[in-house]
Amino acid sequence: MPTIHEIVENQRLYYYSGETKPASFRREQLQKLKTAIKNHEREIIQALKQDLNKSEFEAYSTEIGILYKEINFAMKHLEKWMRPERVKTPLTHLGTKSYLYSEPYGVSLIIAPWNYPFSLQLSPLIGAIAAGNCAVLKPSELTPSVSGVIADIIQEIYEEKYVAVIQGGVEVSQELLQQAFDKIFFTGSVNVGKIVMEAASKHLIPVTLELGGKSPAIVDETADLQLAAKRIAWGKFTNSGQTCIAPDYLYVQQNVKKELLKKIAESITEMYGVEPLENEDMAQIVNENHFNRLKKYLNNGRTIIGGDSDRSLLQIEPTVLDDIDWKDPIMEEEIFGPILPVLSFEHIDEVVNNVRKHPKPLALYLFSESKRQQDHIIDSLSFGGGCINDTLIHVASPYLPFGGVGQSGTGSYHGKASFDAFSHKKSIVKQTNRFDIKFRYPSYKNGLKIMKKLLK
Ligand code: NAD
Repeated sequence: MPTIHEIVENQRLYYYSGETKPASFRREQLQKLKTAIKNHEREIIQALKQDLNKSEFEAYSTEIGILYKEINFAMKHLEKWMRPERVKTPLTHLGTKSYLYSEPYGVSLIIAPWNYPFSLQLSPLIGAIAAGNCAVLKPSELTPSVSGVIADIIQEIYEEKYVAVIQGGVEVSQELLQQAFDKIFFTGSVNVGKIVMEAASKHLIPVTLELGGKSPAIVDETADLQLAAKRIAWGKFTNSGQTCIAPDYLYVQQNVKKELLKKIAESITEMYGVEPLENEDMAQIVNENHFNRLKKYLNNGRTIIGGDSDRSLLQIEPTVLDDIDWKDPIMEEEIFGPILPVLSFEHIDEVVNNVRKHPKPLALYLFSESKRQQDHIIDSLSFGGGCINDTLIHVASPYLPFGGVGQSGTGSYHGKASFDAFSHKKSIVKQTNRFDIKFRYPSYKNGLKIMKKLLK
Protein backbone atom coordinates (compact mmCIF):
# COMPACT_ATOMS: atom_id res chain seq x y z
CA MET A 1 0.00 0.00 0.00
CA PRO A 2 1.56 3.32 -1.03
CA THR A 3 1.65 6.08 1.60
CA ILE A 4 -0.29 9.32 1.11
CA HIS A 5 2.96 11.05 0.26
CA GLU A 6 3.78 8.42 -2.39
CA ILE A 7 0.32 8.70 -3.95
CA VAL A 8 0.72 12.46 -4.30
CA GLU A 9 4.26 12.14 -5.69
CA ASN A 10 3.13 9.48 -8.20
CA GLN A 11 0.37 11.81 -9.33
CA ARG A 12 2.89 14.59 -9.76
CA LEU A 13 5.07 12.34 -11.97
CA TYR A 14 2.04 11.34 -13.99
CA TYR A 15 0.93 14.95 -14.31
CA TYR A 16 4.33 15.92 -15.69
CA SER A 17 4.07 13.15 -18.28
CA GLY A 18 1.55 15.50 -19.95
CA GLU A 19 -1.04 12.77 -20.47
CA THR A 20 -3.81 14.57 -18.59
CA LYS A 21 -3.61 17.67 -20.77
CA PRO A 22 -5.03 16.96 -24.26
CA ALA A 23 -8.70 17.79 -24.77
CA SER A 24 -9.32 14.25 -26.04
CA PHE A 25 -8.02 12.74 -22.78
CA ARG A 26 -10.11 15.07 -20.60
CA ARG A 27 -13.22 14.39 -22.65
CA GLU A 28 -12.69 10.63 -22.42
CA GLN A 29 -12.30 10.77 -18.62
CA LEU A 30 -15.46 12.85 -18.22
CA GLN A 31 -17.39 10.39 -20.35
CA LYS A 32 -16.02 7.49 -18.28
CA LEU A 33 -17.18 9.22 -15.11
CA LYS A 34 -20.67 9.75 -16.48
CA THR A 35 -20.97 6.15 -17.67
CA ALA A 36 -19.70 4.80 -14.35
CA ILE A 37 -22.20 6.90 -12.38
CA LYS A 38 -24.95 5.65 -14.66
CA ASN A 39 -23.87 2.04 -14.17
CA HIS A 40 -23.78 2.45 -10.39
CA GLU A 41 -26.97 4.50 -9.91
CA ARG A 42 -28.60 1.74 -7.83
CA GLU A 43 -25.67 1.45 -5.40
CA ILE A 44 -25.43 5.24 -5.07
CA ILE A 45 -29.14 5.56 -4.26
CA GLN A 46 -28.90 2.68 -1.77
CA ALA A 47 -25.83 4.16 -0.08
CA LEU A 48 -27.54 7.55 0.26
CA LYS A 49 -30.57 5.81 1.76
CA GLN A 50 -28.33 3.95 4.19
CA ASP A 51 -26.24 6.93 5.32
CA LEU A 52 -28.87 9.69 5.28
CA ASN A 53 -32.22 8.04 4.50
CA LYS A 54 -32.39 10.16 1.33
CA SER A 55 -35.38 9.40 -0.84
CA GLU A 56 -34.73 8.25 -4.39
CA PHE A 57 -36.24 11.52 -5.63
CA GLU A 58 -33.80 13.64 -3.61
CA ALA A 59 -30.89 11.32 -4.37
CA TYR A 60 -31.47 11.57 -8.09
CA SER A 61 -32.22 15.28 -8.29
CA THR A 62 -29.60 16.65 -5.88
CA GLU A 63 -26.79 14.10 -6.08
CA ILE A 64 -26.85 12.24 -9.40
CA GLY A 65 -28.76 14.20 -12.07
CA ILE A 66 -26.92 17.38 -11.19
CA LEU A 67 -23.61 15.64 -12.00
CA TYR A 68 -24.82 14.50 -15.43
CA LYS A 69 -25.73 18.11 -16.16
CA GLU A 70 -22.31 19.36 -15.06
CA ILE A 71 -20.47 16.69 -17.07
CA ASN A 72 -22.53 17.38 -20.22
CA PHE A 73 -21.89 21.10 -19.88
CA ALA A 74 -18.13 20.64 -19.38
CA MET A 75 -17.86 18.27 -22.35
CA LYS A 76 -19.78 20.65 -24.57
CA HIS A 77 -17.63 23.68 -23.76
CA LEU A 78 -14.27 22.05 -23.04
CA GLU A 79 -12.43 23.05 -26.23
CA LYS A 80 -13.62 26.64 -25.98
CA TRP A 81 -12.53 26.93 -22.33
CA MET A 82 -9.12 25.43 -23.11
CA ARG A 83 -8.34 27.71 -26.03
CA PRO A 84 -5.89 30.54 -25.22
CA GLU A 85 -7.94 33.70 -24.93
CA ARG A 86 -6.76 36.64 -27.01
CA VAL A 87 -6.98 39.93 -25.09
CA LYS A 88 -6.31 43.54 -26.08
CA THR A 89 -2.84 45.05 -26.19
CA PRO A 90 -2.14 48.62 -24.99
CA LEU A 91 -0.42 51.22 -27.14
CA THR A 92 2.77 50.88 -25.11
CA HIS A 93 3.02 47.27 -26.35
CA LEU A 94 2.74 48.13 -30.04
CA GLY A 95 3.50 45.15 -32.26
CA THR A 96 2.67 42.49 -29.64
CA LYS A 97 -0.24 40.09 -29.16
CA SER A 98 -1.56 39.21 -25.70
CA TYR A 99 -3.11 35.94 -24.51
CA LEU A 100 -4.43 34.19 -21.42
CA TYR A 101 -3.47 30.53 -21.26
CA SER A 102 -5.43 28.25 -18.93
CA GLU A 103 -2.91 25.94 -17.35
CA PRO A 104 -3.91 23.08 -15.01
CA TYR A 105 -2.72 23.64 -11.45
CA GLY A 106 -1.36 20.07 -11.39
CA VAL A 107 -2.19 17.78 -8.48
CA SER A 108 -5.29 18.81 -6.55
CA LEU A 109 -6.91 17.77 -3.29
CA ILE A 110 -10.72 17.73 -2.99
CA ILE A 111 -12.18 17.35 0.51
CA ALA A 112 -15.94 16.76 0.80
CA PRO A 113 -18.58 17.00 3.56
CA TRP A 114 -21.34 14.53 4.42
CA ASN A 115 -24.56 16.39 3.57
CA TYR A 116 -24.45 15.85 -0.22
CA PRO A 117 -21.63 13.33 0.03
CA PHE A 118 -21.74 12.11 -3.55
CA SER A 119 -22.26 15.28 -5.58
CA LEU A 120 -20.04 17.53 -3.46
CA GLN A 121 -17.15 15.11 -3.94
CA LEU A 122 -17.57 14.56 -7.66
CA SER A 123 -18.79 17.96 -8.84
CA PRO A 124 -15.43 19.64 -8.13
CA LEU A 125 -13.71 16.61 -9.70
CA ILE A 126 -15.47 17.42 -12.99
CA GLY A 127 -13.75 20.82 -12.89
CA ALA A 128 -10.40 19.26 -11.98
CA ILE A 129 -10.57 16.80 -14.88
CA ALA A 130 -11.84 19.38 -17.37
CA ALA A 131 -8.94 21.65 -16.42
CA GLY A 132 -6.38 18.82 -16.88
CA ASN A 133 -5.47 18.05 -13.26
CA CYS A 134 -4.78 14.91 -11.26
CA ALA A 135 -6.81 14.66 -8.06
CA VAL A 136 -6.92 13.08 -4.63
CA LEU A 137 -10.43 12.79 -3.20
CA LYS A 138 -11.20 12.72 0.53
CA PRO A 139 -14.86 11.84 1.14
CA SER A 140 -16.55 12.31 4.51
CA GLU A 141 -16.09 9.66 7.17
CA LEU A 142 -19.65 10.35 8.41
CA THR A 143 -21.23 8.82 5.30
CA PRO A 144 -19.20 5.58 4.96
CA SER A 145 -21.51 3.78 2.49
CA VAL A 146 -21.35 6.66 0.01
CA SER A 147 -17.58 7.01 0.51
CA GLY A 148 -17.25 3.29 -0.29
CA VAL A 149 -19.25 3.65 -3.51
CA ILE A 150 -17.15 6.67 -4.56
CA ALA A 151 -13.97 4.66 -3.96
CA ASP A 152 -15.35 1.71 -6.00
CA ILE A 153 -16.36 3.92 -8.93
CA ILE A 154 -13.09 5.81 -9.05
CA GLN A 155 -10.95 2.65 -8.75
CA GLU A 156 -12.94 1.05 -11.52
CA ILE A 157 -12.34 3.85 -14.04
CA TYR A 158 -9.12 5.66 -13.09
CA GLU A 159 -5.60 4.67 -12.14
CA GLU A 160 -4.46 5.87 -8.72
CA LYS A 161 -1.76 7.99 -10.37
CA TYR A 162 -4.57 10.02 -11.99
CA VAL A 163 -7.44 10.11 -9.48
CA ALA A 164 -7.18 8.49 -6.03
CA VAL A 165 -9.70 8.19 -3.20
CA ILE A 166 -8.37 8.26 0.33
CA GLN A 167 -10.98 7.43 2.93
CA GLY A 168 -10.69 8.32 6.60
CA GLY A 169 -11.40 10.91 9.24
CA VAL A 170 -9.71 13.97 10.65
CA GLU A 171 -6.23 12.38 10.93
CA VAL A 172 -6.19 11.32 7.30
CA SER A 173 -7.44 14.75 6.30
CA GLN A 174 -4.68 16.40 8.31
CA GLU A 175 -2.02 14.19 6.77
CA LEU A 176 -3.32 15.10 3.34
CA LEU A 177 -3.16 18.77 4.24
CA GLN A 178 0.56 18.46 4.93
CA GLN A 179 1.29 17.49 1.32
CA ALA A 180 2.44 19.99 -1.27
CA PHE A 181 -0.66 19.95 -3.49
CA ASP A 182 -1.00 22.50 -6.27
CA LYS A 183 -4.64 23.25 -5.38
CA ILE A 184 -6.97 22.51 -2.49
CA PHE A 185 -10.74 22.52 -2.98
CA PHE A 186 -12.55 22.20 0.35
CA THR A 187 -16.27 21.99 1.08
CA GLY A 188 -17.28 21.96 4.73
CA SER A 189 -17.65 24.02 7.87
CA VAL A 190 -16.22 27.45 8.57
CA ASN A 191 -14.06 26.14 11.42
CA VAL A 192 -12.43 23.41 9.36
CA GLY A 193 -12.12 25.90 6.48
CA LYS A 194 -9.82 27.95 8.70
CA ILE A 195 -7.68 24.86 9.42
CA VAL A 196 -7.48 24.11 5.68
CA MET A 197 -6.46 27.67 4.83
CA GLU A 198 -3.80 27.69 7.53
CA ALA A 199 -2.36 24.39 6.29
CA ALA A 200 -2.45 25.64 2.68
CA SER A 201 -0.55 28.77 3.67
CA LYS A 202 2.51 26.67 4.64
CA HIS A 203 3.04 25.80 0.96
CA LEU A 204 1.14 28.85 -0.38
CA ILE A 205 -1.37 26.55 -2.07
CA PRO A 206 -4.33 28.26 -3.78
CA VAL A 207 -7.63 27.31 -2.14
CA THR A 208 -11.30 27.27 -2.96
CA LEU A 209 -13.29 27.17 0.26
CA GLU A 210 -16.98 26.32 -0.01
CA LEU A 211 -18.22 26.97 3.53
CA GLY A 212 -21.49 27.66 5.30
CA GLY A 213 -23.17 30.19 7.55
CA LYS A 214 -26.54 31.62 8.43
CA SER A 215 -28.49 32.36 5.25
CA PRO A 216 -31.62 34.49 5.74
CA ALA A 217 -34.96 34.24 3.95
CA ILE A 218 -36.44 37.73 4.05
CA VAL A 219 -40.14 38.26 3.33
CA ASP A 220 -41.65 41.72 3.02
CA GLU A 221 -45.28 42.84 2.94
CA THR A 222 -45.40 42.95 -0.87
CA ALA A 223 -44.44 39.27 -1.29
CA ASP A 224 -46.62 36.56 -2.78
CA LEU A 225 -47.06 34.78 0.55
CA GLN A 226 -48.41 31.53 -0.86
CA LEU A 227 -45.41 30.98 -3.11
CA ALA A 228 -42.96 32.33 -0.52
CA ALA A 229 -44.24 29.84 2.07
CA LYS A 230 -43.95 26.90 -0.31
CA ARG A 231 -40.51 27.80 -1.60
CA ILE A 232 -39.09 28.56 1.84
CA ALA A 233 -40.45 25.29 3.30
CA TRP A 234 -39.00 23.37 0.35
CA GLY A 235 -35.59 25.07 0.64
CA LYS A 236 -35.44 24.65 4.38
CA PHE A 237 -36.65 21.07 4.80
CA THR A 238 -35.04 19.39 1.78
CA ASN A 239 -32.47 16.91 3.18
CA SER A 240 -33.91 17.77 6.62
CA GLY A 241 -32.32 21.20 6.56
CA GLN A 242 -28.82 19.79 6.09
CA THR A 243 -28.10 21.96 3.06
CA CYS A 244 -25.39 24.62 3.11
CA ILE A 245 -27.63 27.11 1.27
CA ALA A 246 -30.87 26.25 3.09
CA PRO A 247 -32.63 29.30 4.51
CA ASP A 248 -31.23 29.26 8.04
CA TYR A 249 -33.79 31.68 9.51
CA LEU A 250 -36.89 33.55 8.42
CA TYR A 251 -36.96 37.33 8.68
CA VAL A 252 -40.52 38.50 7.98
CA GLN A 253 -42.26 41.88 8.03
CA GLN A 254 -44.43 41.99 11.11
CA ASN A 255 -47.76 42.76 9.37
CA VAL A 256 -47.63 39.62 7.15
CA LYS A 257 -46.04 37.24 9.65
CA LYS A 258 -49.20 35.53 10.87
CA GLU A 259 -50.45 34.77 7.39
CA LEU A 260 -47.04 33.58 6.15
CA LEU A 261 -46.58 31.19 9.08
CA LYS A 262 -50.04 29.73 8.48
CA LYS A 263 -49.13 29.09 4.85
CA ILE A 264 -45.77 27.57 5.81
CA ALA A 265 -47.63 25.12 8.09
CA GLU A 266 -49.91 24.18 5.17
CA SER A 267 -46.92 23.73 2.84
CA ILE A 268 -45.18 21.43 5.31
CA THR A 269 -48.28 19.26 5.61
CA GLU A 270 -48.63 19.20 1.84
CA MET A 271 -45.01 18.11 1.35
CA TYR A 272 -44.43 15.78 4.32
CA GLY A 273 -47.91 14.80 5.53
CA VAL A 274 -49.69 15.33 8.85
CA GLU A 275 -47.20 13.07 10.64
CA PRO A 276 -43.82 13.85 9.08
CA LEU A 277 -42.04 11.39 11.39
CA GLU A 278 -43.98 8.61 9.69
CA ASN A 279 -42.95 9.77 6.24
CA GLU A 280 -40.43 7.24 4.95
CA ASP A 281 -38.89 9.76 2.58
CA MET A 282 -37.77 12.24 5.25
CA ALA A 283 -33.98 12.42 5.37
CA GLN A 284 -32.49 11.60 8.76
CA ILE A 285 -30.07 13.68 10.80
CA VAL A 286 -26.61 12.37 9.96
CA ASN A 287 -25.70 11.07 13.45
CA GLU A 288 -26.54 11.20 17.14
CA ASN A 289 -24.18 14.10 17.91
CA HIS A 290 -25.92 16.31 15.39
CA PHE A 291 -29.33 15.04 16.56
CA ASN A 292 -28.47 16.05 20.16
CA ARG A 293 -27.08 19.40 19.04
CA LEU A 294 -30.32 20.16 17.16
CA LYS A 295 -32.61 18.93 19.94
CA LYS A 296 -31.19 21.61 22.24
CA TYR A 297 -32.46 24.31 19.88
CA LEU A 298 -36.02 23.08 20.27
CA ASN A 299 -36.43 24.93 23.56
CA ASN A 300 -35.57 28.30 21.97
CA GLY A 301 -38.52 30.66 21.45
CA ARG A 302 -42.02 29.17 21.01
CA THR A 303 -42.68 26.10 18.88
CA ILE A 304 -45.54 26.86 16.50
CA ILE A 305 -45.08 24.07 13.96
CA GLY A 306 -43.66 20.56 14.52
CA GLY A 307 -41.22 20.10 17.39
CA ASP A 308 -41.41 16.31 17.76
CA SER A 309 -38.48 14.02 17.14
CA ASP A 310 -37.61 10.32 17.08
CA ARG A 311 -34.18 9.35 18.40
CA SER A 312 -34.35 5.81 17.04
CA LEU A 313 -34.84 7.17 13.51
CA LEU A 314 -32.60 10.21 14.07
CA GLN A 315 -35.41 12.38 12.79
CA ILE A 316 -36.81 15.75 13.76
CA GLU A 317 -40.08 17.06 12.36
CA PRO A 318 -40.01 20.17 10.20
CA THR A 319 -40.18 22.73 12.99
CA VAL A 320 -40.84 26.47 13.14
CA LEU A 321 -39.91 28.52 16.21
CA ASP A 322 -41.51 31.92 16.75
CA ASP A 323 -40.54 34.72 19.17
CA ILE A 324 -36.85 34.30 18.46
CA ASP A 325 -34.31 36.92 19.39
CA TRP A 326 -30.82 37.50 17.94
CA LYS A 327 -29.47 36.56 21.38
CA ASP A 328 -31.00 33.06 21.37
CA PRO A 329 -28.49 30.18 21.01
CA ILE A 330 -30.16 29.11 17.74
CA MET A 331 -29.05 32.43 16.19
CA GLU A 332 -25.40 31.96 17.14
CA GLU A 333 -24.39 29.28 14.64
CA GLU A 334 -25.50 27.71 11.38
CA ILE A 335 -28.45 25.42 12.31
CA PHE A 336 -28.02 22.74 9.63
CA GLY A 337 -31.23 20.93 10.53
CA PRO A 338 -35.02 21.09 10.02
CA ILE A 339 -35.66 23.95 12.45
CA LEU A 340 -36.68 27.38 11.21
CA PRO A 341 -36.47 30.27 13.69
CA VAL A 342 -38.56 33.35 12.94
CA LEU A 343 -37.52 36.96 13.45
CA SER A 344 -39.69 39.89 12.44
CA PHE A 345 -39.09 43.48 11.37
CA GLU A 346 -41.04 46.70 10.92
CA HIS A 347 -38.70 48.42 8.49
CA ILE A 348 -36.21 46.91 6.04
CA ASP A 349 -33.37 48.99 7.56
CA GLU A 350 -33.53 46.75 10.64
CA VAL A 351 -32.84 43.76 8.39
CA VAL A 352 -29.90 45.45 6.69
CA ASN A 353 -28.39 46.58 10.01
CA ASN A 354 -28.74 43.21 11.70
CA VAL A 355 -27.52 41.07 8.80
CA ARG A 356 -24.49 43.38 8.47
CA LYS A 357 -23.57 42.77 12.11
CA HIS A 358 -23.03 39.07 11.31
CA PRO A 359 -20.64 37.20 8.99
CA LYS A 360 -21.51 37.46 5.30
CA PRO A 361 -24.02 34.68 4.49
CA LEU A 362 -23.47 32.02 1.84
CA ALA A 363 -26.97 32.64 0.45
CA LEU A 364 -29.75 35.18 0.86
CA TYR A 365 -33.34 34.91 -0.30
CA LEU A 366 -35.64 37.89 -0.65
CA PHE A 367 -39.35 37.51 -1.23
CA SER A 368 -40.70 40.84 -2.45
CA GLU A 369 -42.68 42.14 -5.40
CA SER A 370 -41.04 45.55 -5.02
CA LYS A 371 -38.28 46.13 -7.56
CA ARG A 372 -36.91 48.92 -5.35
CA GLN A 373 -36.67 46.60 -2.37
CA GLN A 374 -35.00 43.91 -4.47
CA ASP A 375 -32.36 46.35 -5.72
CA HIS A 376 -31.88 47.76 -2.24
CA ILE A 377 -31.12 44.36 -0.68
CA ILE A 378 -28.85 43.21 -3.53
CA ASP A 379 -27.01 46.51 -3.28
CA SER A 380 -26.70 46.83 0.50
CA LEU A 381 -25.92 43.32 1.71
CA SER A 382 -22.93 41.15 0.87
CA PHE A 383 -23.57 37.40 0.46
CA GLY A 384 -22.36 34.55 -1.75
CA GLY A 385 -25.41 34.41 -4.01
CA GLY A 386 -29.12 33.79 -3.78
CA CYS A 387 -32.54 34.23 -5.27
CA ILE A 388 -35.28 36.79 -5.48
CA ASN A 389 -38.62 35.07 -4.79
CA ASP A 390 -37.17 31.56 -4.51
CA THR A 391 -34.65 29.44 -2.59
CA LEU A 392 -31.77 27.10 -3.56
CA ILE A 393 -32.19 27.14 -7.34
CA HIS A 394 -29.25 29.46 -8.05
CA VAL A 395 -26.98 26.54 -7.12
CA ALA A 396 -28.22 24.45 -10.04
CA SER A 397 -27.33 26.74 -12.96
CA PRO A 398 -24.06 26.07 -14.80
CA TYR A 399 -24.11 29.72 -15.90
CA LEU A 400 -23.92 31.03 -12.31
CA PRO A 401 -20.65 30.58 -10.39
CA PHE A 402 -21.46 29.26 -6.92
CA GLY A 403 -19.52 30.23 -3.81
CA GLY A 404 -19.39 32.31 -0.67
CA VAL A 405 -17.80 35.56 0.39
CA GLY A 406 -15.91 36.37 3.59
CA GLN A 407 -16.62 33.70 6.19
CA SER A 408 -18.96 31.80 3.87
CA GLY A 409 -16.14 30.99 1.47
CA THR A 410 -13.50 31.94 -1.05
CA GLY A 411 -13.71 31.25 -4.79
CA SER A 412 -16.50 29.61 -6.72
CA TYR A 413 -17.35 26.76 -9.10
CA HIS A 414 -19.98 25.17 -11.40
CA GLY A 415 -19.91 25.41 -15.19
CA LYS A 416 -16.94 27.40 -16.48
CA ALA A 417 -16.15 28.55 -12.93
CA SER A 418 -15.24 24.92 -12.09
CA PHE A 419 -12.74 24.86 -14.95
CA ASP A 420 -11.34 28.19 -13.75
CA ALA A 421 -11.14 27.01 -10.13
CA PHE A 422 -8.62 24.37 -11.21
CA SER A 423 -6.71 26.49 -13.74
CA HIS A 424 -3.99 29.06 -13.46
CA LYS A 425 -4.41 31.94 -15.92
CA LYS A 426 -1.01 32.41 -17.48
CA SER A 427 -0.60 35.83 -19.13
CA ILE A 428 1.57 35.78 -22.24
CA VAL A 429 2.76 38.59 -24.48
CA LYS A 430 4.01 37.53 -27.91
CA GLN A 431 6.47 40.16 -29.15
CA THR A 432 7.30 40.91 -32.79
CA ASN A 433 10.87 40.87 -34.08
CA ARG A 434 9.97 42.91 -37.14
CA PHE A 435 10.81 46.14 -35.29
CA ASP A 436 12.01 47.22 -31.84
CA ILE A 437 10.66 50.20 -29.93
CA LYS A 438 13.74 52.02 -28.71
CA PHE A 439 12.45 54.60 -26.25
CA ARG A 440 12.15 52.07 -23.42
CA TYR A 441 15.94 51.62 -23.29
CA PRO A 442 17.77 53.99 -20.88
CA SER A 443 20.19 55.23 -23.57
CA TYR A 444 17.40 56.63 -25.79
CA LYS A 445 17.57 60.43 -25.93
CA ASN A 446 13.90 61.45 -25.72
CA GLY A 447 12.83 58.35 -23.77
CA LEU A 448 11.55 60.16 -20.69
CA LYS A 449 9.57 62.64 -22.74
CA ILE A 450 7.82 59.89 -24.70
CA MET A 451 7.21 57.84 -21.53
CA LYS A 452 5.56 60.83 -19.89
CA LYS A 453 3.29 61.25 -22.90
CA LEU A 454 2.32 57.58 -23.00
CA LEU A 455 1.98 56.96 -19.28
CA LYS A 456 0.22 60.07 -18.09
P1 NAD B 1 -16.67 19.50 8.25
O1 NAD B 1 -15.94 20.78 8.05
O2 NAD B 1 -16.81 18.96 9.61
O3 NAD B 1 -15.99 18.34 7.38
C1 NAD B 1 -15.68 18.46 6.02
C2 NAD B 1 -14.49 17.60 5.68
O4 NAD B 1 -13.37 18.05 6.44
C3 NAD B 1 -14.67 16.11 6.00
O5 NAD B 1 -14.17 15.36 4.91
C4 NAD B 1 -13.84 15.91 7.25
O6 NAD B 1 -13.24 14.65 7.30
C5 NAD B 1 -12.77 16.97 7.14
N1 NAD B 1 -12.34 17.46 8.46
C6 NAD B 1 -13.11 17.55 9.59
N2 NAD B 1 -12.38 18.05 10.62
C7 NAD B 1 -11.14 18.29 10.11
C8 NAD B 1 -9.95 18.81 10.69
N3 NAD B 1 -9.87 19.17 11.98
N4 NAD B 1 -8.86 18.92 9.90
C9 NAD B 1 -8.90 18.56 8.59
N5 NAD B 1 -10.00 18.04 8.01
C10 NAD B 1 -11.12 17.92 8.75
O7 NAD B 1 -18.08 19.73 7.55
P2 NAD B 1 -19.31 18.75 7.50
O8 NAD B 1 -19.88 18.65 8.89
O9 NAD B 1 -18.95 17.50 6.79
O10 NAD B 1 -20.31 19.55 6.56
C11 NAD B 1 -21.16 20.52 7.02
C12 NAD B 1 -20.66 21.92 6.75
O11 NAD B 1 -20.30 22.06 5.40
C13 NAD B 1 -21.70 22.98 7.01
O12 NAD B 1 -21.09 24.06 7.65
C14 NAD B 1 -22.14 23.39 5.62
O13 NAD B 1 -22.67 24.68 5.53
C15 NAD B 1 -20.89 23.23 4.85
N6 NAD B 1 -21.18 23.00 3.45
C16 NAD B 1 -20.88 23.94 2.53
C17 NAD B 1 -21.19 23.74 1.21
C18 NAD B 1 -20.89 24.76 0.15
O14 NAD B 1 -20.99 24.39 -1.02
N7 NAD B 1 -20.55 25.99 0.47
C19 NAD B 1 -21.81 22.56 0.82
C20 NAD B 1 -22.10 21.61 1.77
C21 NAD B 1 -21.77 21.84 3.10
